[in-house]
Amino acid sequence: MVDIRFPGDAGAVEAVADALREGKLAVLPTETVYGLAADATNPRAVAALYAAKGRPSFNPLIAHVDSLEMAQTCGIFSDLAAQLANRFWPGPLTLVVLQARDCPVAALATSGLDTIAIRLPSHPVMREVVRALGRPVVAPSANLSGRLTATRLEDALADLGETIAIAVDDGACRLGIESTIVACTGGSAKLLRPGALAPEEIEAVAGRLETAGSGDALTPQAPGMLSSHYAPHARVRLNALDAGSNDAFVDFGGYYIQLAGRVKAYADLSPEGDINEAAACLFETLRRVDAATPSTIAVARIPNSGLGIAINDRLRRAAAPRPD
Ligand code: AMP
Ligand code: MG
Repeated sequence: MVDIRFPGDAGAVEAVADALREGKLAVLPTETVYGLAADATNPRAVAALYAAKGRPSFNPLIAHVDSLEMAQTCGIFSDLAAQLANRFWPGPLTLVVLQARDCPVAALATSGLDTIAIRLPSHPVMREVVRALGRPVVAPSANLSGRLTATRLEDALADLGETIAIAVDDGACRLGIESTIVACTGGSAKLLRPGALAPEEIEAVAGRLETAGSGDALTPQAPGMLSSHYAPHARVRLNALDAGSNDAFVDFGGYYIQLAGRVKAYADLSPEGDINEAAACLFETLRRVDAATPSTIAVARIPNSGLGIAINDRLRRAAAPRPD
């Protein structure tokens, strides 16, 4: 049985920290998505985390810290990295920096790279757990590898079930989409993954962001090479104008409301056309319409600015050809 606690319960933070100290796994809420948490300094716990997610490869994880001081035990902050941290932490920005000499994070968690991804989250539960543990916590999204991200505890437990010792339930995540990842190993900043912090906001501090080049794992080299990720069971079709009676339709701004009742499942990411609301309910909505077992999930065109950039990134990967 997973031990389920609620924010503010007496002893919840300490119970989670104790479980992590023993090398166990926890599911914790953050402001972005639910995280599958392990003690970042314990290689056995990190290995168990990869196994629980069913990750095909040991791709590097984000170390969650509770302070800039803890961040600096892990990574070397250039002036620009420090500026970004000061402006956007705590919050949904992950910084990739060079590893500090005595970085305590297990090499398995960073795939043996000389860089490390670090985030100071704003959610009090994650921060208090990191503080109580006194060490960084790795926490990739709490879902099976390649599948839809979990933004509610029920979804995380449905995927990960009994591999988890303890979890904290804080309802739906406020932002609902993963952090924005920026590499800042020198004097310039490079966008590695669009996410819950809009690129425009980062550019106001860092100047024009480079985007990841073809050598980066996070960027496909050609549209046909988009790696499948964030995938529901049903196939996904983008920029849809219509859908059949066996399909699901995911709308934005109510443009295709006439399809409701004619398709197997209809949902609107934001009837008011609010892109932040759409980001917050993206994964939950995809999980819900997928549960109706449609033959295809058709998704209306989503504006490509602000958080729309992150939404479209996730949707393209959900629609990418599957390895199976
Ligand atoms: P998630 O597993 O959803 O938390 O996502 C973690 C993301 O951070 C993955 O896409 C990783 O590739 C990326 N990441 C972690 N560490 C690094 C690093 N040192 N350099 C570049 N990307 C990284
Ligand atoms: Mg993920």
